[in-house]
Amino acid sequence: MDSINPATGEVIETYDDHTADDVDSILDESAAVTSDWAETPITDRQQLLERAADVLRDNEDEYAELITHEMGKPISESRAEVEKCAWVCEYYAERAGEFLADRVIGSEPNARTFVSYEPLGAVLAVMPWNFPFWQVFRFAAPHLTAGNVGLLKHASNVPGCALAIEDVFREAGYPEGVFSTLLVDSEKMEDVIRDDRLDALTLTGSEGAGRTVAEQAGNELKKHVLELGGSDPFVVCEDADLDAAAETGVAARTINSGQSCIAAKRFIVVDAVYEDFLDQFVQEMEALEVGDPTDSDTEVGPQAREDLVEDLHEQVEASVDAGADLACGGGPMDREGWYYPPTVLAEPPMDSPAATEEVFGPVAAVFRAEDEADAIEMANDTHYGLGASIWTADLERGEGLAREIDAGCVFVNELVKSDPRVPFGGVKASGYGRELGKEGIHEFVNRKTVWVQ
Ligand code: NAP
Repeated sequence: MDSINPATGEVIETYDDHTADDVDSILDESAAVTSDWAETPITDRQQLLERAADVLRDNEDEYAELITHEMGKPISESRAEVEKCAWVCEYYAERAGEFLADRVIGSEPNARTFVSYEPLGAVLAVMPWNFPFWQVFRFAAPHLTAGNVGLLKHASNVPGCALAIEDVFREAGYPEGVFSTLLVDSEKMEDVIRDDRLDALTLTGSEGAGRTVAEQAGNELKKHVLELGGSDPFVVCEDADLDAAAETGVAARTINSGQSCIAAKRFIVVDAVYEDFLDQFVQEMEALEVGDPTDSDTEVGPQAREDLVEDLHEQVEASVDAGADLACGGGPMDREGWYYPPTVLAEPPMDSPAATEEVFGPVAAVFRAEDEADAIEMANDTHYGLGASIWTADLERGEGLAREIDAGCVFVNELVKSDPRVPFGGVKASGYGRELGKEGIHEFVNRKTVWVQ
């Protein structure tokens, strides 16, 4: 597996894949430690998680540089990502005991009835490259603390991050085998998913990968969670604060150089404010600092892989051919590395890729809606259902509109973000199950009913 710097196209380091024998011994090692870890008092597991947070903070610069070199994220965002990982560790270090305490039901006067939350065993996490630390820690912090052991199959372009994360847990003092990395190509994962030593799995990634892995896990009757793609709407109502909507909209579209599942992808603006919003939005997209991701002033870095730039450009070209107006950007930048400029497509037809597909890069599609009702209908006109953002000065109306949106989360006057304290996940083709919050830690536990009479 090659680590390639997206800002230069140069190979930074090459790693050997794990062989079938390596994978076998990693699975053996995790199976061997499963019951001891499940029986370790939760307070001990919480303490270890606190130490993982310390290791992350102590090495923030090193990890941030690794992330930026391997997948091209601007360095300021890489630092923020490492910090957020420390936060999720601290959050579950503090709250896991409360979330997993027996829930007494007391249904009968002469019986003690309660739910106990018991770990499932070995859980595999198949993870994407776009937030290479965060995605893994939002899995590991709750589920290791719940008493499961974790196995990571990271995306093939971030093997350095995968190994560094394994080291975080080692350095924090976790027993060997509680968290392990498998450096394995995705084609070889079916055997692992079907292996009896694996009890459950979660995948964060594309819809296609989700469908393949869900079929295998379903066939084995293994519990699984899917966090897949999205085409989140960003709805601007007539009474919205347009300055705030345009400024936050640009951030919501271009965070992580546009490569985020919960990036705002479809801007749906009511006719009365469409032109004003578009003008301001385009100006701010054009003003973004695009460049070397190791420079702290950079706001948009390169895309993570060459093939991703090619796919992105095909979507832009097809949308323009179908009738979208190109308001800015529009083609790969003429410089070393895999750069695509902030791009705005105005009024793409509803059957063009900008409307129907997930666009994973700094390319915004801005649609004109007749009125609010039309805007909500357009927002729901997608087979995805991850997040949504609504902009209005009337908070009560915003809350009402939020209930009409088919998505796992809706933010009013704020961009969609993940936060350790609130559950995160999608509906429709964006997947099922939840991460984070109390709901997240309950995904990989046996919610066992005990009735004592
Ligand atoms: P991807 O190509 O689906 O890869 C994601 C992970 O799945 C990688 O580790 C990949 O390994 C693995 N994989 C792919 N096919 C597999 C298979 N058949 N069996 C087992 N593993 C398989 O997605 P990506 O390009 O890395 O990430 C971008 C996608 O992730 C976007 O659609 C984005 O919206 C979504 N995403 C969703 C969330 C969320 O929380 N909902 C968060 C972040 C990203 P290889 O690299 O070895 O192929």
